[in-house]
Amino acid sequence: MPRWCDCKQPMSLELHSVIFAKKIEVKNVPIFSCMSCSTYEVLEPVKTHLTEYLKTIELSIKDPYQVVMFSDINEVAGLFYDLYKSNVEMDLEKFGSAIEAYKEERINLLLDVYQCAIQMNDEGWMSDTQRRLEQLSKFHFEGHPSQAG
Ligand SMILES: [Zn+2]
Repeated sequence: MPRWCDCKQPMSLELHSVIFAKKIEVKNVPIFSCMSCSTYEVLEPVKTHLTEYLKTIELSIKDPYQVVMFSDINEVAGLFYDLYKSNVEMDLEKFGSAIEAYKEERINLLLDVYQCAIQMNDEGWMSDTQRRLEQLSKFHFEGHPSQAG
């Protein structure tokens, strides 16, 4: 089932650069976009993190222009980026099942990483891995695809 724009056109899933205050370019943000009216909206599961991140970075910014990869700091965006790189068609139905499989794989990998971090007694690494695992386990693509058009 596609997601519908307010203008009654189907929206497509894309990775997009969001430019904030003309100073910060955040790449690889998963969005729904409408080709006919150029509206876009950031996917619900990453929206809060993106907003918080922009607030934090805005305070600490020194460079005139900064580019960050959202896929490096947000696990859900990372999943979308991995799928995008492996040329999975950005079709909502196919994407839904592919992303669940990728998610399981990524969670298993992070659980291994977490074991390593515990063995090395590295608390920074442990909490970073924990944060990533939380982002992933909260994410269910099927729960967010569309409002009934
Ligand atoms: Zn539209």
